[in-house]
Amino acid sequence: MTILRQAKFLTSAPDLKRCPADSGNEVAFAGRSNAGKSSALNAITDNKSLARTSKTPGRTQLINFFEIDEHRRLVDLPGYGYAKVNESIKKHWQDALARYLEKRQALRGLVLLMDIRHPLKDYDQQMLDWCKHTKLPVHILLTKADKLKFGAAKGILLGVQRDLQKAGYDASIQLFSSPKRMGIDDARQHIESWLNSEIE
Ligand code: GDP
Repeated sequence: MTILRQAKFLTSAPDLKRCPADSGNEVAFAGRSNAGKSSALNAITDNKSLARTSKTPGRTQLINFFEIDEHRRLVDLPGYGYAKVNESIKKHWQDALARYLEKRQALRGLVLLMDIRHPLKDYDQQMLDWCKHTKLPVHILLTKADKLKFGAAKGILLGVQRDLQKAGYDASIQLFSSPKRMGIDDARQHIESWLNSEIE
């Protein structure tokens, strides 16, 4: 039984100032819009309605907090790179994201989701740079792995792993598929180990 099934919506915050008290352990989820973040959150928590899937862009701009218990939370960060959003809104999201990643004491690790067919885009690299800068551990889910044959998916996994190493990013990585329920146990293990780390 995973503790992640206990996750319940806690609150939404438009920026760092309005986030819940910065204590305990948090694991955040980030990725480009449409990478499959909501589907993955629902699959990992075994809760079909936890994060809304296929949202309109206006609804994705808040930082959403889900509580496991008093000391442990999951955080759904705004999906980045949505083409139809104007520049000033994009800027606001990026600033809110950067501030959250840089300042949040409770943050123990970042789950970065990338569509296996479009890995390591500009914004993903920016996230990895921020995490490197703040020494935040990253675990990457290559989502929608069911869209490729297993051999091809494995080939991309190895290629991305090599590119990460070359660029000096210290991130773990795995294949993932929400509809096929592939990689859920591995993802849960990473997340739970971060959530269970000693509270400072
Ligand atoms: P988000 O914008 O990152 O939260 O992405 P969503 O979870 O809303 O997913 C975007 C679209 O991709 C939806 O149509 C999902 O049904 C689909 N999707 C998400 N994850 C997977 C996956 O693992 N495999 C497949 N085939 N489709 C997926």
